[in-house]
Amino acid sequence: MTTTAPSGQTDTADEARDAGRVDVLIIGAGISGIGAAHRMRTEFPDRSFVVLEAKDDRGGTWWTHRFPGARSDNDLFTYGYRHKPWRGPSIAASGAILDYLDEIIDEDDLDSAIRYRHRVTGLDWSSDDGAWTVHVTRDDTGERLRYRAGFLRMCQGYYDHDAPYRPEWPGIDRFEGVLVHPQRWPDDLDHSGKKVVVIGSGSTAATVVPAIADTAEHVTMLQRSPTYYFPPPTTHELAVQLTALKIPDEWTHEIMRRQYTAQIDELARLAHEAPDALHAFLMSETVPLLPEGTDVEKHFTPRYRPWQQRIAFVPDGDLFAAMRAGKASVVTDTIEEFTEKGVRLSSGEVLEADIVVTATGFDLAVFGDIPFRVDGEPVDFTDRVTWRGLMITGVPNMVYTFGYFRHSWTLRVDLVDDFVGRLFAHMRERGATTVVPALRPQDADMPLLPWVDEENFNAGYVMRGRDRMFRRGDREPWTHMQEYAQERESMPAADLDDGLEYH
Ligand SMILES: Cc1cc2nc3c(=O)[nH]c(=O)nc-3n(C[C@H](O)[C@H](O)[C@H](O)COP(=O)(O)OP(=O)(O)OC[C@H]3O[C@@H](n4cnc5c(N)ncnc54)[C@H](O)[C@@H]3O)c2cc1C
Repeated sequence: MTTTAPSGQTDTADEARDAGRVDVLIIGAGISGIGAAHRMRTEFPDRSFVVLEAKDDRGGTWWTHRFPGARSDNDLFTYGYRHKPWRGPSIAASGAILDYLDEIIDEDDLDSAIRYRHRVTGLDWSSDDGAWTVHVTRDDTGERLRYRAGFLRMCQGYYDHDAPYRPEWPGIDRFEGVLVHPQRWPDDLDHSGKKVVVIGSGSTAATVVPAIADTAEHVTMLQRSPTYYFPPPTTHELAVQLTALKIPDEWTHEIMRRQYTAQIDELARLAHEAPDALHAFLMSETVPLLPEGTDVEKHFTPRYRPWQQRIAFVPDGDLFAAMRAGKASVVTDTIEEFTEKGVRLSSGEVLEADIVVTATGFDLAVFGDIPFRVDGEPVDFTDRVTWRGLMITGVPNMVYTFGYFRHSWTLRVDLVDDFVGRLFAHMRERGATTVVPALRPQDADMPLLPWVDEENFNAGYVMRGRDRMFRRGDREPWTHMQEYAQERESMPAADLDDGLEYH
């Protein structure tokens, strides 16, 4: 691959300044993009790369979400990268995650490679050039730029960072209080002494409610239907013991990764093989923490199989502590309409509110909703097929990073980055500059399935976005596996000549 310095020329045809060519262009400076950049720095020092990030800072999800209490619900030993020990409590606030990312940015001198406020607006592959043209608009100056890149790493995340999902309820414009979405939490929102209604009961709602319950007058969590919860300790007992032994942080990191991986593996196994046993286990962890007299059937008995949607982790059971203290409560009902003073429910009950928080989730964004073209032809992802949840048929020199739904996202980030290392070495051995997934003759009649098995996982954003996503086949390598237990074996062993064409 080649590297040329930016020429500084302006292309008068589209008024975009030529920003130069790099070997690898990474889109997004969240946990996936910073992981990819770390590998470029440490494993491919001879290749040039740049990270383009639309926002004004690093962190992705952890920069966008600033609602009170924002935190991981997975442990940070597995949510952290394999190479860099996590030294804090198992569950961490977003600020601590950003600090961890900052350390990596410092250690690898990544700041010099990240371009903030650079929004990618279009991607054009040219087979003649053997390169992507990356169209960029600077959010600060409005200037348009054009990068060239030999290889694309799509690390843009899975949801629309600019427009959160909020259903349109009748009368919403009438509401005289403050309406806020957790994805856009105003820095100056004062909830102290206020009546707050939080709509939703997933991880975000379960985080916001206890975080504001102490200072608010009262917080009502309004849910359409119940969610599964799991209340692990913020700090794992084993981590405390290992820290006391003063063993190297690297050992603690690895041991705790294995400990947590085994725990989630077991929960995932039960979800598949013994959902009733998992249901009973989750209920036995939750029910004793609820205030006396709680209608468990109505408010805490979900109607889906455990883990068909994410389980909401409630560290140290803080949500339930807020309920026991009388500072928070749960209502299970549907919204009939908003009124000037709050929400009217189907039961006729009215919940008065000074602040309504719509913890109603995201909208899926397919590759950041960036338009792709290959040799001038727009790419319609709905008729394309994934190659192992890493690449897309007919889209050359592009690997995307999509983490796990159940295990920590970052476990897959590391696997994907390992895969890219193998792929680059394989291309070098073959003397190839281009790799593109293509269905094999035996796949001609392969049924095309939704990108995830909806029986296995059917969170709201997955179901809302499924018609815009790429497809999956019914056989390898056209699968997008969501189980770390299988993929940690299968991805490193993936045959790089199966379903991939090289030029
Ligand atoms: C509150 C919350 C808690 C979560 N907790 C967990 C957890 O405990 N465990 C877990 O595994 N997952 C969790 N998740 C899921 C989380 O999104 C992923 O873990 C992970 O952060 C995704 O990282 P990413 O880098 O792939 O994408 P993101 O964090 O979404 O970052 C993508 C970046 O790409 C940038 N970008 C997008 N489009 C463009 C463009 N066109 N041009 C330039 N830049 C662009 C965005 O601005 C963003 O900075 C949580 C999510 C939320 C919202």
